[in-house]
Amino acid sequence: MPRDTVYSACPHDCASTCALQVERLGPDRIGRVRGSRRNGYTAGVVCEKVARYAGRVHHPDRLTEPLLRVGDKGVGRSAFKPIAWDDALDLIAERLMQAAERHGSETVFPYFYAGTMGLVQRDGIERLRHVMRYSRQNSTICIGLSDAGWLAGAGVKRGLDGRELEDADLIVMWGGNPATTQVHVMTHVARARKDRGAKLVVVDPYRTQTAEQADMHLMLRPGTDGALAAAVMHVLFRDGFADRSYMEKYTDVPEELEQHLSIRTPQWAAAITGLDPQQIVRFAHLYGGTKRSYLRIGYGFTRSRNGSANMHAVSCLPAVTGAWKYPGGGALYSNGGLYPLDRSLIEGLDRLDRSIRNLDQSRLGPILTGDRRDLGDGPPVTAMFIQNTNPMAVCPEHLKVRAGFSREDLFVAVHEQFMTETAAMADIVLPATTFLEHDDLYTAGGHTVLQVTRKVIEPLAEARSNHEVICALAHRLGAEHPGFEMTAWEIVDATLKASGLPDAATIHDQEGYDCVLDFESRHFLNGFGHNDGRFRFKPDWSAVGQEHRLMPALPDHMAVIDEATAEHPFRLVTAPARSFLNSSFTETSVSRQREGRPTALIHPEDCSRLGLVDGDRVRISNRGGSVEVHARAFDGLQRGVVVVEGVWPNAAFIGGIGINALTSADPGYPAGGAPFHDTAVALHRA
Ligand code: SF4
Repeated sequence: MPRDTVYSACPHDCASTCALQVERLGPDRIGRVRGSRRNGYTAGVVCEKVARYAGRVHHPDRLTEPLLRVGDKGVGRSAFKPIAWDDALDLIAERLMQAAERHGSETVFPYFYAGTMGLVQRDGIERLRHVMRYSRQNSTICIGLSDAGWLAGAGVKRGLDGRELEDADLIVMWGGNPATTQVHVMTHVARARKDRGAKLVVVDPYRTQTAEQADMHLMLRPGTDGALAAAVMHVLFRDGFADRSYMEKYTDVPEELEQHLSIRTPQWAAAITGLDPQQIVRFAHLYGGTKRSYLRIGYGFTRSRNGSANMHAVSCLPAVTGAWKYPGGGALYSNGGLYPLDRSLIEGLDRLDRSIRNLDQSRLGPILTGDRRDLGDGPPVTAMFIQNTNPMAVCPEHLKVRAGFSREDLFVAVHEQFMTETAAMADIVLPATTFLEHDDLYTAGGHTVLQVTRKVIEPLAEARSNHEVICALAHRLGAEHPGFEMTAWEIVDATLKASGLPDAATIHDQEGYDCVLDFESRHFLNGFGHNDGRFRFKPDWSAVGQEHRLMPALPDHMAVIDEATAEHPFRLVTAPARSFLNSSFTETSVSRQREGRPTALIHPEDCSRLGLVDGDRVRISNRGGSVEVHARAFDGLQRGVVVVEGVWPNAAFIGGIGINALTSADPGYPAGGAPFHDTAVALHRA
């Protein structure tokens, strides 16, 4: 085959969902990966991780054949021996059936997440779950907190077009670090700065790479964003920046909000956030004085017990100033709810029974260790089939997750690309294709283009796609559904047709289908998502989540976080690393080299108080466990805050226990979600 360039889309858990141009060197080999220029959001740019994807797809450690564990759990490849595909699938089906016969179908917990964001390959496991009446999965780990907070106010999960960043005069990046996690935001910010002289403000507990580029950085304490947002709105009302006629037309209780905010002064917020009250006023004046203010809302600041309240408070800002009326004005959290897709065939929604137990994926540790708050009166989980996620690395309360996977009465099958730490705990491991080796359908959070992709190269060795494996298991389990009889491409095509969209070949050939809404709709000028079309300053939290009783009626600081105490005087943020994406890319040596080693960023004054110098070993501990890393003095955070970047494998830490031993599986209010950045810890020189 001559060398050519083939269109694809990035499947990783990143809102950019880049349109890609993949250099194909042969039927089973790729070269360089570039961003496509045909997609106006990708705009020819791609992150370093995916630019060198050849190093991942052709990695010598890719799994090439099904494996049966014959040694101890957690050892790795040497504890497994090869097994034929048919034998492996027969064995998995047999064990799932035995478990269901013994305990009932809810004892089986199919578990998945966002290792690929392709809808067919990611979500087909739901079809198997629903047909077999296995325990449902409440998929809270990333979006449980943020979705709840956004939907409470706006009523629908969409907002500005990502490309509209270029029309803005002020961009506020609140609680995200796109220079590390979503480079395209920075591409469009750079254009806005160059063409319009736009300003960039970053709200983040530490000086990230994005904050380094900002005109203003509000470096607040973790979990206090609601207080900052409330004080900013106090100033907006007080100093004449509130658009009262806009609020009259588009919002629910503006007068009640103004009254409520009258005591949420910058001084009040300064005591909670640790910010200078004058900086809060300067930011409020800049925001209120700029019509074209684009609020780009990230996920990071929502990973807190009060994260939904914080998200809601922040999302109120453009509803107070009426920024939504102007080009480049308003907010974007995610456009994930924009796409008019009928997902019934992919997910088997015609077979969904809501009376079946719904287990919170973030609470896998408590679930596997028998916590009755999760299991209810139902059976223990005794069998799991896992695709697209690595809970041994990414789940909170890691020591419980580890104890759970160590149970001898738990059967686990993992379908993966690499021998992850979760795969190493499994009884059977199956080799999975990458996105370049199968067909799929992608939506995006950061832009509005639906994408359909075909495989670019042949699957590595014996690797099979998620869809193929789900269908093969379904046949052995006696699960009947039309989706198990179709190819991935046929499912994509049928889904698009059922959704009234162009067919798969058309969308593929034109490298995407733009679902962008007109100006009025994406700016909510013909109404927000609630029945009366009004933005909610005063949400009906009971409609958002079960644990709504403590939610603040109006935007506020919700004091439910894991506050620092004398015993645990530091607040820990476990932020993303630039060269990893959750636990993906931790297997590639370039990414590992660039990140160095797990490191705690600690304020220099805290370092000297603790007797630490750069490179010293420091023990971080709380009730969940104890983790050892190296220390680095860093003045880009407040005293009493510590940041450890990256979901490193546990094995990369001194002592082999990773950062999620410290994070909690307490469900955030009101609808669940893991509070990864809401952790009080103690630090000691190790
Ligand atoms: S990880 Fe994000 S920025 Fe990188 S290629 Fe994928 S979608 Fe684009």
